[in-house]
Amino acid sequence: MRKSFIFILTTMILGVVSCTGDAKAPQADSKWLVDNFDDIKVLRYYVDGFENLPLEQKELIYYLSMASVSGRDIMFDQNFKYNLAIRRTLEAVYENYEGDKSGADWAAFEKYLKKIWFANGIHHHYSNDKFRPEFSRESFNEWVAAVPQDKFPQDFGTFEELISTVSEAIFNDELYKTKLNSIDGEDLLLTSAMNYYEGVSQQEANEFYDSMVDPKDQTPVSYGLNSKLVKENGKLVEKVYRVGGMYSVAIEQIVYWLDKAAGVAEGAQKEYIEKLISYYKTGDLKEFDEFNIMWVQDTDCFVDFVNGFTETYGDPLGRKAAWEGIVNFRNDEATKRTQIISENAQWFEDNSPINPAYRKKEVKGVSAKVITAAMLAGDAYPATPIGINLPNANWIRRDYGSKSVTIENITYAYSESSHGNGFDEEFVLRAEDRERMAKYSSLGDNLHTDLHECLGHGSGQLAPGINGEELKQYSAVLEEARADLFGLYYLGDPKMVELGLVPSFDVAKSEYASYMMNGMMTQFSRIELGKNVEESHMRNRKLIAEWCYEQGKAENVVEKVVENGKTYIVVNDFEKLRELFGKMLYEVQRIKSEGDFEAGRELVEKYAVKIDRDLHAEVLERYGKLGIQPYSGFVNPVYTPVIKDGKIVDVKVSYNENYIEQMLNYSHNFSFLPTLN
Ligand code: ZN
Repeated sequence: MRKSFIFILTTMILGVVSCTGDAKAPQADSKWLVDNFDDIKVLRYYVDGFENLPLEQKELIYYLSMASVSGRDIMFDQNFKYNLAIRRTLEAVYENYEGDKSGADWAAFEKYLKKIWFANGIHHHYSNDKFRPEFSRESFNEWVAAVPQDKFPQDFGTFEELISTVSEAIFNDELYKTKLNSIDGEDLLLTSAMNYYEGVSQQEANEFYDSMVDPKDQTPVSYGLNSKLVKENGKLVEKVYRVGGMYSVAIEQIVYWLDKAAGVAEGAQKEYIEKLISYYKTGDLKEFDEFNIMWVQDTDCFVDFVNGFTETYGDPLGRKAAWEGIVNFRNDEATKRTQIISENAQWFEDNSPINPAYRKKEVKGVSAKVITAAMLAGDAYPATPIGINLPNANWIRRDYGSKSVTIENITYAYSESSHGNGFDEEFVLRAEDRERMAKYSSLGDNLHTDLHECLGHGSGQLAPGINGEELKQYSAVLEEARADLFGLYYLGDPKMVELGLVPSFDVAKSEYASYMMNGMMTQFSRIELGKNVEESHMRNRKLIAEWCYEQGKAENVVEKVVENGKTYIVVNDFEKLRELFGKMLYEVQRIKSEGDFEAGRELVEKYAVKIDRDLHAEVLERYGKLGIQPYSGFVNPVYTPVIKDGKIVDVKVSYNENYIEQMLNYSHNFSFLPTLN
């Protein structure tokens, strides 16, 4: 459960790889900024401390990194079944066309390819809409004709079939419009281009999986997590992602590197890496649960990782998981902050402003740490979460707890790259708010992420007989809202001062002001005019902000101020706003605990989806004038082993690969899957 990607100004507002907004836009500073195009900035993150690690840890990080990069193609294919065909065809043109490249059409083509690399496919990574090419079909045909045919994928029917499929997918506006449709009332599977289902209706998929659920099973596997559901000869069949199954060639590579990693890992870590390998070989979800139980209990490991089919945001039904890889190691200094929070987890739970029946009697195994990311892949690359909380299985969290991390070298890169971009001056009305944000937004964002990940997602319990699947397509947004509200409520609690985590209530004031502004206004910068809010974390932020705005209207708790034709969101009463966060948490927890689908649907559809058109246009115009790209992502460092007498004696890290180089490098050296899977 990642918080999402970074948002502007704040954060959690910052990911997903966790949360808010988007990153503030970087200035042209080559230490941080690697590339920018369209609505995207590509940044670089630094793995401080890597050089000084002992050899075994460097080696472990290197092997796990290779196991991460090896899965890149899987994410492309999961997003849309022709993504690999499109990427490979475009790369063939990009690298082999030798004619004139000086025109606007070629520049637009290059930009389009950069966008595909960034989104792991032809749909926007956040809005899910298909990209519109700004180069002509005629030019594309000319370039294709000028490149030798043997440069194109040879494993996709005839050359004509390949080019026709690719061209239609790119240029036909009527096809594959959205990767993930979430419009209430439509068949979410048949109208979405994601590749987790084929020829299967929403009702058929729901019936297929509902029939597997045994209501008495207290420890169910995550049905459907690691497979594509297809209809073959009129029957529904799961194509399981495993060695010998779907995505086998890439998974074999992942397994090869995991095996090397197991060779240098120690104790429990070695055991669960071996368990993970076994799961990749069998595809048995029971083994995945066993792996997760071992993994979540290993809270001492210095090097840690995520590698597997993990988050389910890309499936309209929230069941099938995208492949993801993250390698990291602990930031010991910053981890002191999250240790204080997790040591007090029971206090937070006992004082949570929810129905006492839905509080956890005994909070288990909340382990939280601040980490340094060393490699990002799949679903976490190039757009990256800033916090992560895993595993996702409800019963494992209930019985064994969860691991929660804040990725501080990523949040640091966001914040360093965005100084002085003019955002605050444009959107924050009061000088006192700007001053507080300048002083505290970084601390406020990090703490909100810590609270969201480390306590929020793990808090609360379900009523007897409720299994957590009842909220269906609304479960992701309501779950994010629950975790966000938990974090917002406690950020302003006197306990935070008492624990020495913040100097005063001013930190909460800074975070509240930016959260409301972002939720009700500035986050719309990421959405095309006329479109609804689709993405779960964005819906969550709008839901919270709009609900609190409306609930506090009589007392003017939050105000929409218009000055000189510009709209501002101003918080007048921070204490009251905090009470509203608590009140809303009470209701959202009730909905989850009781599995109240109707109430959840109403909340989301009323507050989280529709945007006021005039305000939306205004935000886009003001944003456009600032020239800030609303989305950010990262290139990875490069690890190079130093080999002597056949053995690794050191691993060097370098930061000199640019965006295009890295993408082509991955496409040449880590692209294992067939073009059509
Ligand atoms: Zn979350």
